[in-house]
Amino acid sequence: MANVTLHDKHFEPYVDEADVAKAIDTLAAKVAKDYSDKTPLFIGVLNGSYFFASELLKRLVIQCEISFVKVASYHGTVSSGTVSQLIGLNERIAGRHVVVLEDIVDTGNTIVHIMAALNEKQPATVAIAALLLKPEAYKKDIPINYVALEIPNVFVVGSGLDHDGLGRNLPGIFRLAQS
Ligand code: 5GP
Ligand code: MG
Repeated sequence: MANVTLHDKHFEPYVDEADVAKAIDTLAAKVAKDYSDKTPLFIGVLNGSYFFASELLKRLVIQCEISFVKVASYHGTVSSGTVSQLIGLNERIAGRHVVVLEDIVDTGNTIVHIMAALNEKQPATVAIAALLLKPEAYKKDIPINYVALEIPNVFVVGSGLDHDGLGRNLPGIFRLAQS
């Protein structure tokens, strides 16, 4: 893999496509085992999760459903802080076994908002599956139940992840080049 330039920034190969695929194989096997009798509802968080959702679901031989949401955040009053809404969630969540699919969990702020919005709808269970996790950055209490790859605190693109709109289509994972 060669280096790539996206807008003003240079990125170097970090995890190749085959290793990403292997990591998703392992994760998919765990999910299949845990949900074989549950008909889970997977909820992909757009835009970044499209790649992970597709790669994960094609490996699952269990019965399941998939839907996608966008997270819209806006600042409420000072006391309520940032409020998030899940856009596009039309499925009935109550009583379902839900698995949230995220491209990457960094500080975890996004996942906290998603979990709050989902839990209001009273699912039977909610788990989180992430293609990437930055353990050094993640300080929340919510467990990230399934992680394909753990990475250090570096900015990455590819496999669904972008830099200002570009790079989502790159196979494998690229990291910001240290110059
Ligand atoms: P968190 O709320 O966990 O801090 O961040 C989650 C969001 O930040 C991700 O869904 C993603 O959009 C963005 N993000 C965090 N780290 C990275 C990264 O290394 N690369 C890219 N492209 N986006 C990131
Ligand atoms: Mg995202």
